[in-house]
Amino acid sequence: MSRVAFAAPLPVAPRPQPDERLSSWLGRLARLYGMRIEAFLECCGLRRAVSDLEWRLWAGEGALLASRAGMTAEAVRALTFEEIAPHARLTVAARSRYACALCPTDVHRKAAALPWNFWCVEHGARFEPRAGRMLTSLLPGTQLAALDPAARLGARRMADWAQGADEPAPSVTDLLNFLTTRHRASSPPSLREQPVLSLEARRANHDFLTRPIARQALLVIVPEYDRVAPVLAKAVLPGIMALAEGSLLQSYALAVGVGRLTADPVGCAASALLASDQDGAERLRGVLRAWPPALRRRIAGRLAQLRDAQRAASAAAAAARTCRKRRQSHKFRFSQSHNPARRVS
Ligand SMILES: [Zn+2]
Repeated sequence: MSRVAFAAPLPVAPRPQPDERLSSWLGRLARLYGMRIEAFLECCGLRRAVSDLEWRLWAGEGALLASRAGMTAEAVRALTFEEIAPHARLTVAARSRYACALCPTDVHRKAAALPWNFWCVEHGARFEPRAGRMLTSLLPGTQLAALDPAARLGARRMADWAQGADEPAPSVTDLLNFLTTRHRASSPPSLREQPVLSLEARRANHDFLTRPIARQALLVIVPEYDRVAPVLAKAVLPGIMALAEGSLLQSYALAVGVGRLTADPVGCAASALLASDQDGAERLRGVLRAWPPALRRRIAGRLAQLRDAQRAASAAAAAARTCRKRRQSHKFRFSQSHNPARRVS
């Protein structure tokens, strides 16, 4: 098709689907005309790559596309990610991160490119990973229902952060840094994390059984994730990269973690410190320096309370053990003294 033919409005130009991203819509148009997307754009008078256009349309580009497709320039601009601030661009995937069973396979919506959206905006269906186990098979329905409010709160904060409208410190970046910090030294899979293996299989899988796994604060703040995450895919990348590169399960756990830290920053941070070893506590305190001093003081106070409660519980458990032992010893002596077999005839 000649370039002149595209000077006029396209003979047929399907409307974008709700929340469809620019690359998806232009891809569908190009396929309709049997062209590669780059050639289609050139015929429309646009010489930038679609991945660049999708971030921000320069002056005139939106109007040009709009006139070809019979739409307004605002409607075309709404297909771009111009609302995403530069600090969050890493989190926008080139294609849909997750899958909706009800969406057409050739339609990619903007929300599906962002790691903190867990439901399809069009169908309300829960997203599933494009490969691997479904979220609903890892976490039972009742547990997901219990986690969803925190995930939604975390997702709302991350969406605000991506648009440059986040709350001040601790920001989403601060919270992600905290969640992804190692609170304890890396350690091999625990017995609970290991599959049941024969002695022979244990020898064959020695590398797996002895491989050190990073232990991050996320595991303390979202223990549900710790229990179900595959042990070799349990560790997430540091900070924002955890969101940019994470799986659906990891992103969901991070959203729950951000939600819980938002709702109870003092309690969550103190719990992570309580569960940490000496080096881990130092690392966490280093990350906490970005948090407001007043909040840090409250965390220190809560940690002292938790330690007192832990010491009291340990002392009570030790006292109960001693008491049990004494009772058992008394019973033993009693039964010994009443054992007819020991009686001297
Ligand atoms: Zn859908």
